[in-house]
Amino acid sequence: MTTPADHLDQAHRQSLWTPFLRMETVLEHGPVVFDRAEGVYVWDSTGKRYLDAHASLWLMNVGFGRQEIVDAACAQMSRLPFFSMFQGYSNAPAIALAERLLQLTAPEGMGRVFYSDSGSEAVETAFKIARQYWKNRGQAGKYKFISRRNAYHGVTFGAMSATGMMSNRRMFEPLVPGFRHIADPNCYRNEFGTGLSEEEVAVAASEALRRQILFEGPETVAAFIAEPVQGAGGVVVPPAGYLQRCREICREYDVLFIADEVITGFGRTGTWFGSRTYGIQPDIMCFAKGLTSGYVPMSATLCRAEIFEAFLGPATGRTELRHGNTYSGHATAAAAALANLAIIERENLPENARVVGRYFLEQLRTLERHPIVGDVRGVGLLARVELVADRATKAQFTPAGSVGPKVQRRAQELGVIIRPVLDVLTFSPPLILTKAQADEIVAVMDQAIGEVTKV
Ligand code: PLP
Repeated sequence: MTTPADHLDQAHRQSLWTPFLRMETVLEHGPVVFDRAEGVYVWDSTGKRYLDAHASLWLMNVGFGRQEIVDAACAQMSRLPFFSMFQGYSNAPAIALAERLLQLTAPEGMGRVFYSDSGSEAVETAFKIARQYWKNRGQAGKYKFISRRNAYHGVTFGAMSATGMMSNRRMFEPLVPGFRHIADPNCYRNEFGTGLSEEEVAVAASEALRRQILFEGPETVAAFIAEPVQGAGGVVVPPAGYLQRCREICREYDVLFIADEVITGFGRTGTWFGSRTYGIQPDIMCFAKGLTSGYVPMSATLCRAEIFEAFLGPATGRTELRHGNTYSGHATAAAAALANLAIIERENLPENARVVGRYFLEQLRTLERHPIVGDVRGVGLLARVELVADRATKAQFTPAGSVGPKVQRRAQELGVIIRPVLDVLTFSPPLILTKAQADEIVAVMDQAIGEVTKV
């Protein structure tokens, strides 16, 4: 007899094209079709329960089942679901959300908000603001962007050109001209040397930025873009002082600093923003994911008032930002975002991320009893466990990615969802995680790693 779950499985295999996955993998293993969720747990169409230790895709910050977000979105949908922001049209939730975002980012010095729908678009917006800003300032030659290897900034052409993961770029080349990449500040493995202290990595990796700016010529560089903690690249936690040094170097050469806070925004790293955790004031900040905790799509790009002011003045063709999405400032999404931010503040979720995150990391470190665990690192509720073929030499598995996905699949069978980046296991649970749930994740990882190693 064909069950409804079987039907969904077959229909998915026959009709859907899955993002970022070889279709044969889906055909071989079948999709996991989710049906409902509550808190940190999600159930599939067969009734099996999973602890979502990845907050879906780094974003379900407040957890599932938040009726007040649903109510806020429904009320707004009934009243005015959407109206375009083009031609100077506006709506109350979009205005209120902009005010709230500026309050929240006041310590970072933000002065204006521009809306779009996804993280990729928030990054595209940042690039377009940066390029036009320099043109408006009479320095049209400043058009290049510097980003880092292993960075992930999205899938649209500009964001992809900034992305530093070769596998995401190769099949779409040639990419947008004007993007350069420097080494990331990975303290476990990097190209600066072996046995370096975190402080030495901070200096070497930030000096790589200075060298690149000088090599290109500061008069040609518009901006440096960085995720405060590289997420999709394998949760690369920066050493203390690195981001502050990069911030200073950008100031020294009149290069804008864009913080891509798509993952690190709204509590993930133990404070409201990754920039705050690492003590920097960027020129531009990109938000998505945790802005609405994924209840509906929305993103935002914020910039300092001085940048916005370079767009003021008479109609010269320079003062208009010829950019926007149909759904920019979507009223329903803004209402959901406001309700989401109210929960994050009321429940002090950044603090929970800090406290439970520290405990979670301590527990993850117990996994070091497995010989294949090479590196355990994290900040807030963002963590990595790198699996290696040889701990003494840090040798990677061949082929790369031959063990991480096996561990992920076994953990999934055991009821915990994580995300492997080749052989780096990444964790990004909802910010409501309790210590008991942290233990549940670690117990499953312990078993999964043990079983995969034994085979
Ligand atoms: N920037 C960062 C740091 C991200 O992690 C992501 C997505 O994971 C993006 C940008 C792109 O966001 P989206 O997938 O919403 O386009």
